[in-house]
Amino acid sequence: MSVQIFGIPVSRGVAVGRAVLLTSARLDVAHYFIEPGTEEHEVDRLRAARAAVRAELDTLQGELPDDAPPELSAFIDVHKMLLDDPQIGRETAAWIRQRRYNAEWALTAQLEVIARSFDEMDDSYLRERKADVEQVVERLLYALLGSGPLRANAALRGANGDPLVLVAHDISPADMLQFKQGVFGGFVTDVGGKTSHTAIVARSLDIPAVVGAREASRLIRQDDWIVIDGDNGLLIVDPSPIILEDYRVRKQESGLVRERLKRLVHTPARTLDGQAVELLANIELPDDCDAALASGAAGVGLFRTEFLFMNRATALPGEDEQYAAYRRVLETMRGRPVTIRTIDIGADKPLEPIDDYRDGEFTHLNPALGLRAIRYSLSDPAMFRVQLRALLRAAASGPLRILIPMVAHAGEVRQTFAQLELARAELDAAGQAHGTVEVGAMIEVPGAVLMLPLFLRHFDFISIGTNDLVQYTLAIDRADESVASLYDPLHPAVLQLLGQTIAQAHGAENWKGRPVHVSVCGEMAGDPQLTRLLLGMGLRSFSMHPAQLLAVKQEVLRADCARLAPLAQAVLAEFEPESQARALSALAA
Ligand code: PEP
Ligand code: MG
Repeated sequence: MSVQIFGIPVSRGVAVGRAVLLTSARLDVAHYFIEPGTEEHEVDRLRAARAAVRAELDTLQGELPDDAPPELSAFIDVHKMLLDDPQIGRETAAWIRQRRYNAEWALTAQLEVIARSFDEMDDSYLRERKADVEQVVERLLYALLGSGPLRANAALRGANGDPLVLVAHDISPADMLQFKQGVFGGFVTDVGGKTSHTAIVARSLDIPAVVGAREASRLIRQDDWIVIDGDNGLLIVDPSPIILEDYRVRKQESGLVRERLKRLVHTPARTLDGQAVELLANIELPDDCDAALASGAAGVGLFRTEFLFMNRATALPGEDEQYAAYRRVLETMRGRPVTIRTIDIGADKPLEPIDDYRDGEFTHLNPALGLRAIRYSLSDPAMFRVQLRALLRAAASGPLRILIPMVAHAGEVRQTFAQLELARAELDAAGQAHGTVEVGAMIEVPGAVLMLPLFLRHFDFISIGTNDLVQYTLAIDRADESVASLYDPLHPAVLQLLGQTIAQAHGAENWKGRPVHVSVCGEMAGDPQLTRLLLGMGLRSFSMHPAQLLAVKQEVLRADCARLAPLAQAVLAEFEPESQARALSALAA
């Protein structure tokens, strides 16, 4: 029977595919399709792993001290029995033979099936045996992967089989990043909000995604067919043929719309009344520059460098490695301006798996209000200067702007510039070449808006991070689906702060006596439904995921700023939801 599940739409489009259910602990396992004809070889790998685990358990049992409690041996017997159970042996081999999953993937797929049947048991003793199965599977995975950590290569390779969609309780931004080269046609998670970093990375993959679908990973079973409607935040499990057909047509239609938009790639972004608008790309990794160029972006408006620091088993990237990454971005962008943000670690972007690096510092009660972004960098000046030196060196290869996240205090401004000076001096002392940079502040907390008179005296430019500005203005955790309905970029308080920031920046000169460049790099900039409002507020620089750029450009081309300015002011004057809605529809007309 077909079931509908509602969640939060975070990345548009429609995906239809078979569910691959992953629990977070098992996201680290490699998932790939084996070559046709190699199925029996893969089944042999599984067989060998079972033999190895059996030998391991025998040894364990044989070495039990005489005074060990008798339950221990019985416990090992249970594991040996489970190892011989056809559900683990035969059924896992069936995933390999029928779906051509690699053995690790087949095991985790089968584990989900077994775990589900345990969950449905009435007897609580039997239900708890699920943990035994998980432990046996875990042993098998280790045997398959050798004794190294499970976080092996999670590269996902495509095959000609059924399309796949990923269903998980939660996916960290770091794990989501690993799926960039993946074969998944869509993503669903139980938790998360529209501007959580996981959702942002999903959007950058430009594939349909729904988060905050609460019960999805419990209701959806391994291998179920599901439709992900990323426009409406809807999942349909086991869709009827009529629904499937309907979604196939919609998928085709949205494909056509995208094709049509591609014609605008080389069209200059200019409004009807001749205002030039800068459309920039947000990127997470240097490789994303290709998508940025393909979308016709005028440059990079936000490189979230913290993603370079994630998914690392041991050390943080050193100066040379960072320098190479930044330089590559500048070179790939071929002279277009590139804005690189210093790391924004913390909150929903912990630095796992290097958890021992800053032992337990991220387990605070309110991580979004804790040690993140510039606070994090300033708390470890040596690490901060590694990044600053790498940036200054890269600046010799092209126009580079450094962006400081979440700055709010005069002390942070002072310390940031002091660290920058020190980094320059260190490079000079080492005889290293470096270039000039502009330095900008992200406006992400209401306090920063009120500090603009000071910021504008020190920084060359500002970039408004609306994702956090909404979060901190309304006190809504952007990653928490339970308050997602209150996360409202059109809240009058948010619009007041946005309007005030743009107006103040336009009326000011920076410390060099030049006009202050102001852009928006939060998700609002990439929402074509907000383009007119932002243009009307005076914004002329938007930075967004490349996938959204052409839809925003289409809005720019149809806009008349002279007409929109008073209409946007009318929106800003409204505080009642009904009158604000009327003012917004006048703007859209
Ligand atoms: C923002 O807060 O709007 C922003 C662009 O930064 P991030 O989403 O990485 O926090
Ligand atoms: Mg932010």
